[in-house]
Amino acid sequence: MPLILPQKSSTVAADLRHLLGSEKVKNDAPSLTAYAVDASIYRMTPQVVVLVESEEDIQHVIRYAVTHSVPLTARAAGTNLTGSAIGSGIILDVSRMNCIMEVNREEQWARVQPGIVLNEFNRQLAKSNLMFGPDPSSGDMCKLGGMLANNSSGPHTLRYGSVKDNVHSLRVCLQSGEWLEATSYGLVDPACERILSAHPALRKLLTLVREHKAVIQGKQPSVSKNSCGYNLFGLADGLDLGLFDLPKLFIGSEGTLGVISEAKVRLVVKPAITLTALIHFRHLEEVGEAVPQLLALKPSALEVMDANTLDLIGRQRHGIPEHSAATLLAELEGVTDETALKQCAEEMATMCRRYRLAGELTVAYDQEQRDQLWKARKALYPTLYRFDPRKKPINFVDDVVVGADRISELIRYLEDFFGGQKTLVAIFGHIGNGNAHILPLLDVNDRQDFNKMIDAYHEVHHTVLSRFDGSICGEHGDGRIRAEYVRKMFGEELYSLFVQVKHMFDPSGVLNPGIKISEESFTEHIDYTRLSKSCATCGKCNSVCPVYDVFQSEDMSSRGWFEIVTAKDYSYLDSKRVVEACLNCKSCRKICPAGVDVSDLILKRRAEHPNRAAGWMFRLHARPAIFEPILKLLAKTQPWWDRPAPRRWLARLAQPFLSRVAETAKLPAEMALPKLAGRLLRDRHPELVERASSPNQGEVAYFHGCAANYFDDGVGDAVIGVLKKHGVEPTLPPQRCSGTPIETYGHVDIVKQHARFNLESFAGYDTVVTGCASCHLMLKDYAKLFQNEPEQATAERLSKKVVHITEFVARAKDKPPTASAEAGTHRVTYHSSCHLRAAGVTKEPRKILSELPGVNYVEMQDADRCAGGAGTYLVKDYETSQKIFERKRRAIQESGADTVATSCPACMIRLRNGSPPGVAVKHVAQVLQEAYEAADQTQGDRPNA
Ligand SMILES: Cc1cc2nc3c(=O)[nH]c(=O)nc-3n(C[C@H](O)[C@H](O)[C@H](O)COP(=O)(O)OP(=O)(O)OC[C@H]3O[C@@H](n4cnc5c(N)ncnc54)[C@H](O)[C@@H]3O)c2cc1C
Ligand code: SF4
Ligand code: SF4
Repeated sequence: MPLILPQKSSTVAADLRHLLGSEKVKNDAPSLTAYAVDASIYRMTPQVVVLVESEEDIQHVIRYAVTHSVPLTARAAGTNLTGSAIGSGIILDVSRMNCIMEVNREEQWARVQPGIVLNEFNRQLAKSNLMFGPDPSSGDMCKLGGMLANNSSGPHTLRYGSVKDNVHSLRVCLQSGEWLEATSYGLVDPACERILSAHPALRKLLTLVREHKAVIQGKQPSVSKNSCGYNLFGLADGLDLGLFDLPKLFIGSEGTLGVISEAKVRLVVKPAITLTALIHFRHLEEVGEAVPQLLALKPSALEVMDANTLDLIGRQRHGIPEHSAATLLAELEGVTDETALKQCAEEMATMCRRYRLAGELTVAYDQEQRDQLWKARKALYPTLYRFDPRKKPINFVDDVVVGADRISELIRYLEDFFGGQKTLVAIFGHIGNGNAHILPLLDVNDRQDFNKMIDAYHEVHHTVLSRFDGSICGEHGDGRIRAEYVRKMFGEELYSLFVQVKHMFDPSGVLNPGIKISEESFTEHIDYTRLSKSCATCGKCNSVCPVYDVFQSEDMSSRGWFEIVTAKDYSYLDSKRVVEACLNCKSCRKICPAGVDVSDLILKRRAEHPNRAAGWMFRLHARPAIFEPILKLLAKTQPWWDRPAPRRWLARLAQPFLSRVAETAKLPAEMALPKLAGRLLRDRHPELVERASSPNQGEVAYFHGCAANYFDDGVGDAVIGVLKKHGVEPTLPPQRCSGTPIETYGHVDIVKQHARFNLESFAGYDTVVTGCASCHLMLKDYAKLFQNEPEQATAERLSKKVVHITEFVARAKDKPPTASAEAGTHRVTYHSSCHLRAAGVTKEPRKILSELPGVNYVEMQDADRCAGGAGTYLVKDYETSQKIFERKRRAIQESGADTVATSCPACMIRLRNGSPPGVAVKHVAQVLQEAYEAADQTQGDRPNA
């Protein structure tokens, strides 16, 4: 199927812009770089990216692609492991079509668009106590469109099946540009005849399946899961029931037959209770014997990790016994009946104890304990990515399926085979379905390892088919990686039917060429450069990136930025638009399984082009003798100028300067500014400042940072007040800006000057308390800033002494008495500041709040997501910041809280700009101080106090 590619991507882009408008079409270098990868081992640079927002958009793009013979690849989150969401022509990204259009609670179904993230979908459904059953481990990032097109599934397939078992109907745009309502039609239903007449390809398909039913059914894999080839088996089985079961064809077709714009999916009731058990088997063979018995208990999940995997992730770290040959995770669910579930747990324990276990069986019902049991399994990918700087886990035989009763035999075979190759390999997966994920660790840039990959690809796939009568693909799809093997799996006759089906629906061959039906070798398009880099392109960081959340476009995302800033042909001028969009919230760093800090890479690129206007500001700020009088004057006059009319003037006056800081920067009149302090914190506490002149051993220092000193926000006083209540008279040593905002504008030289000053100033203290999340993380990160420089050791020492006020309080042995600060009970929620989260402080603030009298602590949804403040980002890109905050605003509203507490003065500014009316914004230290003062008051009120 030769495709004629237009010479220039600009021609295609110009045409598409004309059709759809310029906002939705991208062909600049950074965008194409970002879209050149998915989570597979491949790279392919597209000509143009289209971010469709409606069915009309999809239709226009398909018609254009067909008319001009431009390859077209649909894409959702780009987390597939097979290279099926990258292509050489148009990438049609459905991410912006992410609405839940209808939920029917009674009949348990929903109509939903393909761009919605699975976990987001389930979060919304949870309000109705429902969920979508299939649960790929990538659920926090993958989107429904990709799940449908890949027929995804996950650990709980045992109970809920794959996607194909959970779909009523689809709306599909065919390559003719016509829309098809793909549902399960009764063969004698007049509606069936109507669609056959409307879409000639369907009549041909029906005839083909009827005529070759015996061949199709004869070749149906006998294992419980298969996503290899087109699901003509589902269609053939449908005919037996008098149905033309169309969803079966499109689910798992990987965007090669049409583009899905909507699905009506089946929902299930969320389990009321779940039990998780961890079982360590001493002998692999006994796992094989135990599995059928465990399956009799109808577990919802049954997962395995082999001995190699346990070694690779570190047995000691995860409390896995030395002699475990395989560890099983079993999960049982109950919708109502707790007693029955407990009985099942008993049966499971009795049954397992018949085998030689390498340790006691652990059972947990509580969510936190269950998470603990899943920890080793979930830590698997991260650990493998970090295991070796050169040898990476390579997905190329990652998804085989055999009979569940033969899984031990398969594992033994694989261990022997890879052992013979001297290749480290992790084998794990959904043992209940016989679905094994095999991840060899290889350096594909090394010729020997490359050859091992080719050998393993053929040998393992061949053995799975010939010896185990299994499938080469359970849930990840064929993509580029297995396309070459589809013919071998099904034989010439059935393969030729697949080819005919592809021709029927895509005669011009534009729909995702190279995928599923292709003669290309799996080694074509491997991205050797990327496989030597640290990023695994898994897309996990995108799921927490606030900018991606707003733009739903890979060039405005953490993963995309990694690609852009590490590209060989990177240029700041070309990439400024995207490189300057990052908030430096560090959410990506916290979540990345491979330990990549995208924000740091971006900051390094910014440091190559420090922003001059911001630099001028920071230099002025570094001269307190000039800066502080100006600030005090502004504070004094704030009641006059901080009113709507003067603010509009101020906005205009400031604009020329702000535009030099960033094209997007502005200071709109409606933005609530923090109240400036007429008397700085240091002026208000001269006795604590003076203490710094003769510090005593073991003293506690308070690093207040800029905000608490310059703003009249009550945070600094509250931190000092709380420390005093804990019997600590803190010292306020001389200090300079920790450096966070300065670093974001590229002025590393100024950051280092300040850091050196702070390192010296705080060197003599045992404990350095912070109240600001950003200062906290920056002080901790000084060691990174001075990596391999003389200051590194001092910075490391400081890092160990830095504690956030919430940590200080949570760790205190003696707690001052607390009482209700106000009458009645208050509903308080917590916004977890990104930089404090990045520093690992998450539980302490929540614990403090939930233990306070008179506080009804509620966890808000998305508490751990960036609110869009990020220091000066609110000014740097007000519009984007507002869009990011919208999600937080909704979460605050839904929590029903009257107070949002947080741990960072900068977040407080953001929260005050747009939180629902009547919601107070406070620092946790302020909430605490109020509770301490209320206790004093109560004691004072007592007659004998
Ligand atoms: C860490 C990790 C863990 C994973 N775990 C699992 C797992 O447990 N189980 C599992 O099954 N998979 C797993 N996967 C693979 C992957 O996440 C799933 O296949 C996922 O469903 C793909 O969704 P996506 O939104 O990323 O799709 P994409 O990667 O964007 O696309 C996948 C395919 O769908 C097509 N497509 C997308 N949208 C449409 C549309 N609207 N119409 C037509 N075609 C479309 C694309 O062309 C492509 O062929 C994992 C991946 C990673 C990185
Ligand atoms: S930076 Fe980390 S989380 Fe993001 S795609 Fe790369 S490996 Fe995944
Ligand atoms: S620091 Fe925040 S905004 Fe920047 S890439 Fe990471 S998650 Fe996205």
